[in-house]
Amino acid sequence: MSEQKCIMVVGAHAADAEIMAGAAVLKHVEAGWRAVLVHLTLGEKGHPRMPPEEYAKVKREEAHAAARALGAECVILPYLDGELPVSEEVQWAIADLIRQYRPTVLITHWKGSIHRDHRNTNLNVMESLFFARLGTFKRAHPAHGPTKVYYAENWEDPIEFKPEIYLDVTDVFDRYLEAIRCYALFRGEVVSFPYEQWYRGASELRGAEAGVPRAVALMLPEGLRRRSVNLLDELSW
Ligand SMILES: [Zn+2]
Repeated sequence: MSEQKCIMVVGAHAADAEIMAGAAVLKHVEAGWRAVLVHLTLGEKGHPRMPPEEYAKVKREEAHAAARALGAECVILPYLDGELPVSEEVQWAIADLIRQYRPTVLITHWKGSIHRDHRNTNLNVMESLFFARLGTFKRAHPAHGPTKVYYAENWEDPIEFKPEIYLDVTDVFDRYLEAIRCYALFRGEVVSFPYEQWYRGASELRGAEAGVPRAVALMLPEGLRRRSVNLLDELSW
């Protein structure tokens, strides 16, 4: 029996991974893949009324509930919201997870973000690939590099985001919404940004561009672009 393939999504704050890539995760889970959501912080400072310690507990529970609903596993790293450093420590933490779970596909934030934690997540993840791939670094798990790396579309990361790969998510979109409604943030109970309106609209816009009712768009890392666009199986993961 062949090894089960894995998709990993690394987000800055609990909810980012699910909101930007939950539909893509569902497509892969349906196809028999293992899925792992990595949250570098809980996003515990994002509530205007609830103290961070209290909101952290809520976000932790919501993260586990959303992961269950997506059929994914959830890993929460211990960094603080708004204070995510760009450091070798963070990069090794991500690299060790890549070595442990051995994802074929890795999705994270695009660097063109209005949020510093999102930008720092992008930098940390891209640097972590070096530590994950290089076999001469001896760690608990052997070296591993994902075959495909993508940036997902996120309302907070719109600066020069280019839609390059489209994934038809029409058949999983309702289940995706149901899963991310586990978060009060997405339900509109924390801040006034209309999350559901934006992500519904984005899926229709990208769907129109791709010729299907609903799609998500992904962007390719600069250095991997030429190799990836030549892969004929790009749309049939
Ligand atoms: Zn975020």
